[in-house]
Amino acid sequence: MMRTVYVNGNYVPENEASVSIFDRAFLFADGVYEVTSVLDGKLIDFHGHIARLERSLKELGINYPVDKDALLEIHRELIRKNDLVEGMIYLQVSRGAAADRDFMFPSADVKPTIVLFTQSKSLVKSPAAERGLKVASFPDQRWRRCDIKTVQLLYSSLVKNEAAKKGADDAWLVLDGKVTEGSSNNAYIVDENNTIITRELSNDILHGITRKAILQCAAELDLKVEERAFSIAEAQKAKEAFITSASSFVYPVIEIDGAKIGDGVPGPIAKRLREIYIEANRAAAI
Ligand code: PMP
Repeated sequence: MMRTVYVNGNYVPENEASVSIFDRAFLFADGVYEVTSVLDGKLIDFHGHIARLERSLKELGINYPVDKDALLEIHRELIRKNDLVEGMIYLQVSRGAAADRDFMFPSADVKPTIVLFTQSKSLVKSPAAERGLKVASFPDQRWRRCDIKTVQLLYSSLVKNEAAKKGADDAWLVLDGKVTEGSSNNAYIVDENNTIITRELSNDILHGITRKAILQCAAELDLKVEERAFSIAEAQKAKEAFITSASSFVYPVIEIDGAKIGDGVPGPIAKRLREIYIEANRAAAI
């Protein structure tokens, strides 16, 4: 189906949408993005994603005034125009297109570029959730402001491809001997006391919107949470491991660098967290 997408104030067929070749997202990866999931035609954690968008823009000094109501209406209009029932809405804001390629930021009259499009995907029924993921580790060679959700995703894309070459589904990144996060998700392990361990918030990881929700779900299940870094060796000995992101919710991890986690099948805590996350967020979707 030909999608309708949103570009700088206009709803247009995807094959007619365009941005300038001088757009700074294209030339310098000078842009930020958000991905919000849609269940039953409604948005999951919309306000969390918009709050993070505002923060990313502020950290980079991109002067895009976020109008939450207007953005909500654009998201909803795209859902309607594309009959989206389940999937994601991708939003990208760049610093805009200056007259020339120039490392220096353009003058204040250059308007940011905003693009949104939908992607249909079965999120609740998911083979990856049922099967669990195999992950392979790689050194974390990204820039050190991973808390900003920039479109500078080349390293994440590279390691995901390298992981696939090794027969794995995803990559976990390692900095100074400790796991930071997955290529496009936050990483967790569960120890023998059913304590959930995930790296603390810092500039080294993206502050996942799903991470926050999952830690609340864990509290509701009376599970202890330790926010600290862990190594691949500790993860390989864990009872369970899993990842979270807006488009995966919770996926169990069943193998890390060839070592089986627990019995090598999705663990009960990851499964339960996934169920209650879906239930709670389906009910709260707007
Ligand atoms: N870390 C990285 C590097 C990511 O790309 C993502 C996905 N956007 C996440 C974590 C998870 O964040 P969220 O739960 O907000 O999707």
